Amino acid sequence: MKGRKLLMIPGPIEFDPEVMQSMAIPTPSHVDPDFIATFGRSLEMMRRVCQCPSGQPFILAGTGTLAMDSVGACLTEPGDLVLVISTGYFGERYAELLKRYGAVVDILRAETGNMVPLATVEARLREKKYKMMTFTHVDTSTAVLNDARALGALGQKYDVLTVLDGVCSVAGEEIRQQEWGIDVVLTASQKAIGVPPGLALFVVSPKAMEAFKNRRTPVANYYGDWAHWLPIMQAYENREPSYFGTPAVNLIIALEKSLDLILKEGLEERFHRHRRTGQAFRAAMTALGLKMIPTSESLSANTLSAPYYPEGMKAADLLGHIAGAGIIVAGGLLPDIKGQYFRVGHMGVVNRNDLLATADAIETALRKCGASLETGTAARTIHQVLDGRV
Ligand code: PMP
Repeated sequence: MKGRKLLMIPGPIEFDPEVMQSMAIPTPSHVDPDFIATFGRSLEMMRRVCQCPSGQPFILAGTGTLAMDSVGACLTEPGDLVLVISTGYFGERYAELLKRYGAVVDILRAETGNMVPLATVEARLREKKYKMMTFTHVDTSTAVLNDARALGALGQKYDVLTVLDGVCSVAGEEIRQQEWGIDVVLTASQKAIGVPPGLALFVVSPKAMEAFKNRRTPVANYYGDWAHWLPIMQAYENREPSYFGTPAVNLIIALEKSLDLILKEGLEERFHRHRRTGQAFRAAMTALGLKMIPTSESLSANTLSAPYYPEGMKAADLLGHIAGAGIIVAGGLLPDIKGQYFRVGHMGVVNRNDLLATADAIETALRKCGASLETGTAARTIHQVLDGRV
């Protein structure tokens, strides 16, 4: 059907029609009692989705970068020592951002397709007294999945605040914020959370809230200052009217619907479904002869995949054929190897049909570009994995 496309990029993703319908209503006042209840329930559900019962959730109008910015601005002061663990593009972004607030930033860079070995991280933490350590749970530029549990434990051991960039993982990959001792989990609406772009979301541990309260200097970011937003979040949870900046009312209505659907599915079931989806898609790509950026299964994200183009194949031709089949995938993002790979998102409401259509479009495009592949290779692999036959 002309014009009907399937959006398989790593965010924004395809959204549940129920979520889209929920927000297609006349915008209520941000102090309407029904909206106050919606905001309050969304905050409560954020705590559950991040599995952090004693955390303080924040919902701001903005994108994932704003979540990074607000957290960075509120938890660092000029001269603070911060360790950034970078698995790609978004780690580098965090380092740049933190420097703007005067933080003294050390970066540990992973080799492409790998995570920074935990022993290397631990050696650094032993060597210097850092105030904070940031890491990207799933780096959307490499599809590498970091070991969030182990990094949380290291943060606890060395008394360093830990910040997990979960923009490409929350509500898709397993996260147990409180149990794993992670101080901040931050994300955005447009990926596995399942709401159109425009919300910055984060949950802050009591320890990080304490560090914020003990600051010696004012926060150098007006909009993102938690001192403005904390009373607002508390008011909404207490079902009271309040105002600092106008909330993204319709997006928050959609957020309540989506979080409700996520929790109804059940977090364990949802993590499991994403793992199966990731395994099936990777297996299909491997069956087509494509090599993936992550160097092992255990380092592979389940929310997206990042396959290299076959040697000598023209990227534009391949992507053109995939788009011609009505499937939208994304190009590379990591500057050094940008032209050598592409990315496919498979999170949120993605289902077997979406995976089959996408993998088949890639297979057909490869064939059109000269690869010799038996018809149905990708689809067969996906069925085998999803049916548990391999
Ligand atoms: N971190 C990660 C891991 C991301 O994938 C993204 C967005 N792709 C961001 C941060 C930034 O989020 P946004 O584009 O919503 O500002």
